[in-house]
Amino acid sequence: MNEKGVNQTGDAAPTYRRYEEGETAFRSMTDMIFEADGSYKCPVYVHRAPPCQAHCPSGHDVRGWLSIVSGLDKPDEGTAWQAYAFRRMTEANPFPAIMGRVCPAPCQDGCNRDEVDEHVGINAVEHYIGDWAIGHGLAFPAPPTETGKKVAIVGGGPSGLAAAYFLRRKGHACTIFEEGDALGGMMIFGIPAYRTPRDVVNKEIQRIIDMGVEVRLGTRVGTDVTVADLEKDYDAVYWGIGAQSGKPLPCPGAEASNCVSGISFLRAFNEGRLKHLTGRVLVVGGGDTAMDVAAVARRLGRTENLPAKDRPENVILGQTVHDVARVARREGADVWIVYRRPISKAPAARHEIDAVIAEGVEIRDNLAPLEVVRGEDGRATHLRVVPVEWKEGTMVAQEGQEFDIEGALIVGATGQAGDYRGIEEFDNGEGLMAADGHHRSPVRPGHFVGGDAITPHLITSAIGHASIAVDSMDRYLRGEDAPRRPKVDVHHFDLVADLRRHGRQPDDYNHQPSWGTCDGNYAVHNYEDRSSSEIVHHQDLFLGHFDHVPMNRRNEPAITPETVVDNFEERFTGFSDEHAIGEAERCMSCGMCLECDNCLIYCPQDAVYRLRKGERTIGRYVDTDYDKCIGCHICMDVCPSGYIRMGLGE
Ligand SMILES: Cc1cc2nc3c(=O)[nH]c(=O)nc-3n(C[C@H](O)[C@H](O)[C@H](O)COP(=O)(O)OP(=O)(O)OC[C@H]3O[C@@H](n4cnc5c(N)ncnc54)[C@H](O)[C@@H]3O)c2cc1C
Ligand code: SF4
Ligand code: SF4
Repeated sequence: MNEKGVNQTGDAAPTYRRYEEGETAFRSMTDMIFEADGSYKCPVYVHRAPPCQAHCPSGHDVRGWLSIVSGLDKPDEGTAWQAYAFRRMTEANPFPAIMGRVCPAPCQDGCNRDEVDEHVGINAVEHYIGDWAIGHGLAFPAPPTETGKKVAIVGGGPSGLAAAYFLRRKGHACTIFEEGDALGGMMIFGIPAYRTPRDVVNKEIQRIIDMGVEVRLGTRVGTDVTVADLEKDYDAVYWGIGAQSGKPLPCPGAEASNCVSGISFLRAFNEGRLKHLTGRVLVVGGGDTAMDVAAVARRLGRTENLPAKDRPENVILGQTVHDVARVARREGADVWIVYRRPISKAPAARHEIDAVIAEGVEIRDNLAPLEVVRGEDGRATHLRVVPVEWKEGTMVAQEGQEFDIEGALIVGATGQAGDYRGIEEFDNGEGLMAADGHHRSPVRPGHFVGGDAITPHLITSAIGHASIAVDSMDRYLRGEDAPRRPKVDVHHFDLVADLRRHGRQPDDYNHQPSWGTCDGNYAVHNYEDRSSSEIVHHQDLFLGHFDHVPMNRRNEPAITPETVVDNFEERFTGFSDEHAIGEAERCMSCGMCLECDNCLIYCPQDAVYRLRKGERTIGRYVDTDYDKCIGCHICMDVCPSGYIRMGLGE
């Protein structure tokens, strides 16, 4: 769909079809009513997980906070809706302002709204709430009573910081050991500041530290502190050490001094040492790191006739620091990305690929590197490549068609690994760490692992790991076994807790025999929570209810090859209140009542009724009188969000 609500086939008709071509359309309503009670079924309100949430690696209650922003779920008096949404968001992830900016948003790939027009702009709303919380100085609540348990966290990247956050919420004390001189991990050493502005990163980190987290910077576990020290002083250990080194290019000649890793290139840039380039930069790879290297290279620009000591590799390898005086004489850098698959299959976010292309980076895909060709001085002069074809997922090199691409700096961005000096026992043989489904390390009891250390992926994944690991750690610290994780392992909305918050929870069961079920208030009647095991698919929704509404987009000024040099401005401008609300209103509330009244309006028996205001909460808006219901299924068919299923009676 484009912004005008026209779908990919170019027509503006709804994409929704409940019946396939040739199938009979809806049965007549009259028949449905008269034949209905043959089904013996009545409606049940079934709470299921929406696909956006199931696709989010940190398991965000996306539908929940969108319904707060849209005004469906209202805060208590005196609380701003943004603050209420922030509280809901940070149940799962303490970095909304960063997520909203750089998460490639797998949640959006799962969003059912794509079947109507275009997915909901979830991370733009997250960005808005994150910035609002920073602007209004929101803090996390003080932890509950202290448990007296202490956890050592190794690594102060997003995973270690998230572990600290979840541990403090449970009242466990924790200390972060970070080998660098600042917290943030790849959010500051890898990702450039125009994507993760440092003031935003620092504010979101400080909010976690203010919960009472001890921090030891410049302390590397394995050399400055041993594993035995940690085990002596702490009750459990969380490993969030990431994967700090770029793997060398897997081809001969890669040891040339001007053949460096994307990670070291970006670290030199982020530490302010690398200020300009010279000659052509060849970036090998198709992930986030490759895109960031290419984008930074284009921004840094190129200066000619650099003295040998100022060559980029000398800066990247830490032998010198660039002099700012040359900055004035920069031109656009010649940057190529060489990737062995079609660029459409690259793991980097599509948005980042499109951005580097627009900024003037040349993409050469379907080329496999064979060798780094070196000159007499041992420096790389070219990258030898071979064109490849992909047949049923297998790469077939076009032998005899090899050729050389000139490059003054070759940057390999083809993988990451960790540094296991002094902690060798945790290395799984591939420079990473092993963990089971509860994020326990198989190496030692009481050790837990998460984030890039297991497999380099995304910030949201590192946070999701930390959340699960802290659940397991909490059990471990209490001497309990970790129970099986749910099938849909996300942060679930708890309807009973919400009723309790409003003082509307069911009564405690009195264990006295009684007749009938109508008058007892011992359970949430006609309601079933399947959110831990079922995801709502678009086929379960009544999509015809929703109009085409164009997505609200954040403003992103186009950066061109002419304007890219020295352009380190942040790319997005966040939403206004109005746009955030407008975008949240596009959410179809998959798997949860959206209070549209369709079931009330269409029920031929008047069996469906609205609960009194003082009894309601989200998901508890209507109920059915089973004495009147004839099981016609009409309410289920007209429920836009798939909240009604026909049950009972069988
Ligand atoms: C260039 C680049 C761009 C990226 N872009 C994106 C993006 O746009 N969106 C996205 O979601 N993700 C992106 N990612 C991925 C994301 O940054 C990582 O998935 C995330 O940072 C992993 O978090 P982590 O805490 O596991 O590891 P890290 O962020 O690597 O943090 C680990 C920390 O542990 C410290 N440490 C390591 N060993 C020790 C030790 N022995 N003792 C003490 N401290 C130690 C390190 O100094 C570091 O601070 C990108 C990654 C890179 C490299
Ligand atoms: S963290 Fe990423 S995947 Fe999760 S809701 Fe936010 S944008 Fe979506
Ligand atoms: S419409 Fe809303 S609840 Fe449904 S998948 Fe999209 S964001 Fe999630």
